[in-house]
Amino acid sequence: MISIKSPREIELMDIAGSIVARVHKKMKEVIKPGISTLEINRIAEEVIRENGATPSFKNYQGFPCAVCTSVNDMLVHGIPDHTILKDGDIITVDVGACYKGYHGDSGWTYTVGNVTDPKILKLLEVTEEALYKGLEQVKPGNHVGDISNAIQTYVESFGYGLPADYTGHGIGRSVHEDPYVPNVGKAGTMELLKKGMCIAVEPMVFMGSARCYTLPDGWGVKSYDHSLAAHYEHTVAITDDGYKILTKED
Ligand code: MG
Ligand code: MG
Repeated sequence: MISIKSPREIELMDIAGSIVARVHKKMKEVIKPGISTLEINRIAEEVIRENGATPSFKNYQGFPCAVCTSVNDMLVHGIPDHTILKDGDIITVDVGACYKGYHGDSGWTYTVGNVTDPKILKLLEVTEEALYKGLEQVKPGNHVGDISNAIQTYVESFGYGLPADYTGHGIGRSVHEDPYVPNVGKAGTMELLKKGMCIAVEPMVFMGSARCYTLPDGWGVKSYDHSLAAHYEHTVAITDDGYKILTKED
């Protein structure tokens, strides 16, 4: 069932979202060659807790850490560990925070040190732009499929792979709620968007083929062809005539 949030609930989600944004601001400062993904996790958790929130993903379906850290050819759900980031890597940090029972969720891909390969920079630019192409479709009267189709049309025009099994989602009292918000789909299909719905829109893109597999740890998802992955996500609330990004600093 899709829940419609009251203005008060959206206020709390806005606070949760701004805490997530503060974590990302910190990530921009600390992500450098030489840092481990476990240290990134520790710093992210510290910022979440200092702001009176709890990490949404810790213990979620058994996930062991506060945030997901997915390096290079890993698409999503990387478990922080002793991996040391190297100059030229890319890393996605996916952050969820729960404030007074309401969640915010935002993933972002960062470059580590000097990334100069135009092919890598293009992947990041296109995936971030795909997020905004999807968000342009978020308004009452449109359908979830309008978001999906806008993302798919844009991303596939660059020849990149969009794994259909990984989707955006509704969000609120739970970090994952109805509806699914796929990154592939037909315009005018799926659920009708209404004022007060809150959703996370999140294109997850491989430079190469969309084929991927889950690691033996049951979490990390990597490309079969070792191609690099990018992922950009915002949580938004649907307003009278569009949307408000909640995972932004006030
Ligand atoms: Mg999400
Ligand atoms: Mg996320």
